[in-house]
Amino acid sequence: TGAENMDTLHNDQLGQWDRENFFHPSTHLAKHARGEMPTRVISGAKGVYIEDRDGKRLLDAFAGLYCVNVGYGRTEISEAIAAQAHELAYYHSYVGHGTEASITLAKMVMDRAPANMSKVYFGLGGSDANETNVKLIWYYNNILGRPQKKKIISRWRGYHGSGLVTGSLTGLELFHKKFDLPLEQVIHTEAPYYFRRDDLDMSEADFVAHCAQKLEELIAREGAENIAGFIGEPVLGTGGIVPPPEGYWAAIQAILKKHDILLIADEVVTGFGRTGSMMGSTHYGMEPDIITIAKGLTSAYAPLSGSIISDKVWKVLEEGTDEFGPIGHGWTYSAHPIGAAAGVANLKLIDDLNLIENTTVTGDYLRAGFRERLGDHPHVGDIRGVGMLAAIEFVEQRDGRKFYDASAGVGAKLSAALAAKGVIARAMPQGDILGYAPPFCLTRQEADIVISTTEAVVRETLG
Ligand code: PLP
Repeated sequence: TGAENMDTLHNDQLGQWDRENFFHPSTHLAKHARGEMPTRVISGAKGVYIEDRDGKRLLDAFAGLYCVNVGYGRTEISEAIAAQAHELAYYHSYVGHGTEASITLAKMVMDRAPANMSKVYFGLGGSDANETNVKLIWYYNNILGRPQKKKIISRWRGYHGSGLVTGSLTGLELFHKKFDLPLEQVIHTEAPYYFRRDDLDMSEADFVAHCAQKLEELIAREGAENIAGFIGEPVLGTGGIVPPPEGYWAAIQAILKKHDILLIADEVVTGFGRTGSMMGSTHYGMEPDIITIAKGLTSAYAPLSGSIISDKVWKVLEEGTDEFGPIGHGWTYSAHPIGAAAGVANLKLIDDLNLIENTTVTGDYLRAGFRERLGDHPHVGDIRGVGMLAAIEFVEQRDGRKFYDASAGVGAKLSAALAAKGVIARAMPQGDILGYAPPFCLTRQEADIVISTTEAVVRETLG
């Protein structure tokens, strides 16, 4: 077919093959098939820039899907991957097998995990890691002789993946609609999203009390004896990039402890530095029983995820296998050596270049720039973030906080206009929100480009 000679292919040909053969995730399939969405073929990347096949360079202020934390084109990682592929591309990790890379990475992860954590289980991506977490919590409660304690509480606007259980945990309508989700074992509570509170007169402290009360009510309605776990991202990510209000996690944890409900901190985005601390849990004083890690573990140079299990949960899992035999859970690619080699090189690079410190320094600079240039704009409702995470939320009217009608697609228009000017920010899926999560190595000069391009696009598009 000629498909093997990639270098000589014309973009039109790739576009046609793309429309004919490639089922893309999270995509309007009909528009794509009809050719209403241009095919953008990404061909290379370096630092914070990606380049498409037409030679157009874009400053990727979302680090792929907030995952290329160390930036693109790091030869320290690609060479580690190549060396691992030459030496040993694959061996499994069932029944006690390991590789130098996977055992070293387990040690490096546990050295960076909060206190009271015991072991790490490796998977492929964030979704399968959260799938593992739910299974382990069910197993845990069965071993403890309370088989009815199984429901998992998640938050509206949480994002935890798109499998059957994890798509249910995800609290975004797009991921449920027409998929018969959420499954009945998953229930949702209020998002800690102060800007979107119903009562505009409510103080932040009162809003935290309100979230806590909603959780108490849900637990009372369902019965604590039926609820096994609570999952939450330290900072709401895909749901809008929303740092928690002061005191939120302390209030939530007190309730979970009282009702013997395990806490899963989903650190797929926040793990390994994005909040300015090694772990988002530590940043917000959370004491999780399980931590989900993925994106930041390898900076997406190879797929790898993990579930970090606390001493408390581990003890029960151990007892379980003594009584019932080996744990019946594993993926062919658990702890894949290539992913593990990428993880080792990535975590080392983060330390060597002191990249976590820069997430706060340049992240603060980015948010300050947005506030200075756009803080008074009549259609900017909120500017927020932490570490190397930022969001600008747009409103039709600031006074009285009137949101745009979703059909206007304001967020998507702004994101498209930004891309046309060479900067990638993500239109978050629910609300008119531009999300920023640049690689940790973003410089001030690059932040200035993001700030000034955003300002220009907002003024041109919204006035
Ligand atoms: N959890 C969080 C917090 C995420 O942001 C994501 C992906 O964006 C996931 C889980 C799912 O990870 P994956 O897409 O690797 O399955």
